[in-house]
Amino acid sequence: MCTREAFEGKAMHELSIAAEIIDAASVELRQTQGLCAQRLRVRVGGLSGVNPENLRFCLEVARDGTPLGPVQIDVECVRAKVLCPACGEVDCGGRFDLACPRCGGSISGFLGGNEIEVALECEEMEEGRFRAD
Ligand SMILES: [Zn+2]
Repeated sequence: MCTREAFEGKAMHELSIAAEIIDAASVELRQTQGLCAQRLRVRVGGLSGVNPENLRFCLEVARDGTPLGPVQIDVECVRAKVLCPACGEVDCGGRFDLACPRCGGSISGFLGGNEIEVALECEEMEEGRFRAD
């Protein structure tokens, strides 16, 4: 069980994001009647400024007392790529740099890295399978 101090100054950013994710997933779950949430998958871009471990911790706290209580939480960090005119798509290695990590030339842009994607995986409940007919 976490204390209030664990959040203050450390993970407030992730905590507010976690609360939004749990809210959105709870709404989605309410709309899928007869389905049971199995897994909450969150993909976090490497340039989004979100710490995946902090976010996972905050999600586990934020889901308490919601319909998502027993759900499994997966947080995956998605590494951004840079687009280099000479090399094409190159893994940026987690750095935010305007130089290509491979050839050192100027890149023309980033591919992803800022996104936070949420997917809720559901399954039919046992009793729901027989109730449908
Ligand atoms: Zn390059």
